[in-house]
Amino acid sequence: MREENCIFCKIANGEIPANTLFENDMFKVILDLAPASRGHALIIPKDHGNDIFDLDDKVVGEALILAKKLGNVMMKEFDCDGLNVLQNNGEAAGQTVFHFHVHLIPRYKEEKKILTWFQGTPGENELEQLSEKIRQAIQ
Ligand code: AMP
Ligand code: ZN
Repeated sequence: MREENCIFCKIANGEIPANTLFENDMFKVILDLAPASRGHALIIPKDHGNDIFDLDDKVVGEALILAKKLGNVMMKEFDCDGLNVLQNNGEAAGQTVFHFHVHLIPRYKEEKKILTWFQGTPGENELEQLSEKIRQAIQ
């Protein structure tokens, strides 16, 4: 399924050119135009889903398997020291393109710190309460 005016629908289906690393019937993998590091790539499903919650389980699963396969090749070929597999859902989480995608971000020892956050201090009983809430809801 495609969505009108969705840039990643157009890229994944070949209407807009991109630097493609890999393609099969389900996904296109391209280089990010504004890379966080050298070789930053995006796994884009050909079918439209706004985010992970809007996508078939099969596509979500295959996306992670593909992240492993491509990540392995990227680690060797780009000679990076690590790789972040990252995926944003919702504006509050930093999503800017509302067509599900998985970031593959090569990391190099010498580069400055990216993708970090301040470590928090949970309130009294907060962790117990949060975990209990989800255990109850997921049954
Ligand atoms: P997110 O913030 O998780 O939604 O990520 C969107 C990513 O798409 C950003 O890293 C952008 O740099 C990248 N991006 C946006 N438009 C294009 C494009 N036409 N080709 C390649 N990457 C793009
Ligand atoms: Zn789309």
